[in-house]
Amino acid sequence: MMGIILLGPPGAGKGTQAKKLTEEFGIPQISTGDMLRAAVKSGTELGLTAKSFMDAGGLVPDEVVIGIVKERLALADCGKGFILDGFPRTIPQAQALDRAAAELGKEIGFVLSLEVDPVELMERLCGRRTCTGCGAMYHVKFNVPKAEGRCDKCGAPLVQRDDDKEETIRKRLDNYNRSTAPLLDYYKGTGKIRTVMASGDIDAIYRSIVGILR
Ligand code: ADP
Ligand code: AMP
Repeated sequence: MMGIILLGPPGAGKGTQAKKLTEEFGIPQISTGDMLRAAVKSGTELGLTAKSFMDAGGLVPDEVVIGIVKERLALADCGKGFILDGFPRTIPQAQALDRAAAELGKEIGFVLSLEVDPVELMERLCGRRTCTGCGAMYHVKFNVPKAEGRCDKCGAPLVQRDDDKEETIRKRLDNYNRSTAPLLDYYKGTGKIRTVMASGDIDAIYRSIVGILR
C-alpha cells in the first residue's frame, strides 16, 4: 500500500477513519495534530511555538509542520505506506510533501477528500471526546463509549480538546476554507483524488474507503 492523504475539514472524520485503516492495514497514521499536541504536552520548544497558534484556532507555520512530517516519513515504519491525517493543510505544505516524497522514494497513491455538511461538522466537533490513554475518538451522541467518560479500548479517561470550543471551531473552519480547500485544486490534475461522502455510519464510510483503496 502507498501513501494516503486524508483531506477534509476539521471534524470530517479523518482521525476516526485513519485509526481504523491503521488497525487493519498496519500502516502508521501520521497526524500532525496529534504530534503537535504531544509536543505541547511534553513542553518542548516545538510545543511552545505551536501552542499559541493552536489555541487561537490558527495554523502552525508551514516550516514547523513540514519539518516534523519530513522526519516522520523517514522512519522505517513508513516503508509499507502511511496515512497522512491533517497534513498537508496549505499549498506550500503540499509542495514540500511532493519534494520530500520524491527524495525519500515514496509515492502518494490516493488523496481521499472527506465531504461532510458544514452544520454537521460543528456538532461533531462540539461533542468530540478523545482518550487520554490511546487516543481513540468518541462522540457524546454519535459514537458513545460504553461507560461514560471512559475509553472502551483501554479504560483511560476521555477529555474534550481545548480547541473544540464553538468560537475556536469557527476559526478553524474558516482557516480550512481559506488555506486547505484550495488543495483540492492542487491535486485535481494528479488523478489521485477520490471523493468520500463522509456523513452517516462510521463503518459504512470505512467500507467505502477500503473499496477505493483495493
Ligand atoms: P477529524 O480528525 O477530521 O477532525 P474526527 O475523526 O476527530 O475528525 O471526528 C470528529 C468527531 O466526529 C469525533 O467526535 C468522532 O467521534 C465523530 N465522528 C467521526 N465520524 C463520524 C460519523 N461518520 N458520524 C458521526 N460522527 C462522527
Ligand atoms: P487537528 O488535530 O488536525 O484538528 O489539528 C489541531 C491543530 O493543530 C490545528 O488547528 C492547527 O493549529 C495545528 N495543525 C495540525 N496540523 C497542521 C498542519 N498541517 N499545518 C498547520 N497547522 C496544523
